[in-house]
Amino acid sequence: MYDMRKIRNHIYGPIRSRRLGNSLGVDMVPHKTCSLDCVYCECGATTVHTIERREYIDTDAVINEIDGYLSDSPPPGCVTFGGSGEPTLHSGLGRIIKHLKERFPSQKLALLTNSTLLGDRGLREEILPCDLILPSLDAVTDKVFREINAPVAGIDCAGIINALTALSAEYRGQMWLEVFIAPGINDSDSDVVLFKEAIARINPARVQLNSLARKGTRETLAPAPIELLEGIARRLEPLPVEIVAMMK
Ligand code: SF4
Repeated sequence: MYDMRKIRNHIYGPIRSRRLGNSLGVDMVPHKTCSLDCVYCECGATTVHTIERREYIDTDAVINEIDGYLSDSPPPGCVTFGGSGEPTLHSGLGRIIKHLKERFPSQKLALLTNSTLLGDRGLREEILPCDLILPSLDAVTDKVFREINAPVAGIDCAGIINALTALSAEYRGQMWLEVFIAPGINDSDSDVVLFKEAIARINPARVQLNSLARKGTRETLAPAPIELLEGIARRLEPLPVEIVAMMK
């Protein structure tokens, strides 16, 4: 997630993002409203732990802020829905995407998502106009999923992998799948084998291995050494893997 340099209530940046370049961020939900509570979250512990989609922030207010920025500033490389919670929880996301694609057709749109709501076919349709979707998949067993991501009850790994596979088949833009490597939690031999099978099914354009860059919510969590990331990347080949953990 991003360095939150807010310039208005709901937008921040543009900032130089490791993965996205020059990105204007849109914070779609109140601070730490999320369906997960990840050990590596740099925004702190989740305060509203929910899977409920609703209009957490006035949709027109978000549209007005983005419109205002794009109308009188140099266009950012992309407008990115992300922030300090899970953006797909906002029920107005589809309307905002549609509006921006109509009013600023050449503006690139990106979505960061933890993937937990992608089983909702209606939501998948809402996000199809985005140019880039960056979903996360940090676990391939429910035990590890609970340890690393602490999901809301009722969400499981198989459902997320099925939803990502469905999205990938429907989507015409670029999907870059992020896998956060937590040493000692999701890096066992069997995890890597299961990741390879799941990612082959999902078939993203890129697989991005990430690791801890700033302090998360678990004190003992350490960044993955580069040797560990390189070893996992080699074992995931010929999938299109890259290591983004050390990128500036
Ligand atoms: S998905 Fe995880 S990293 Fe992202 S905001 Fe939620 S708790 Fe933080």
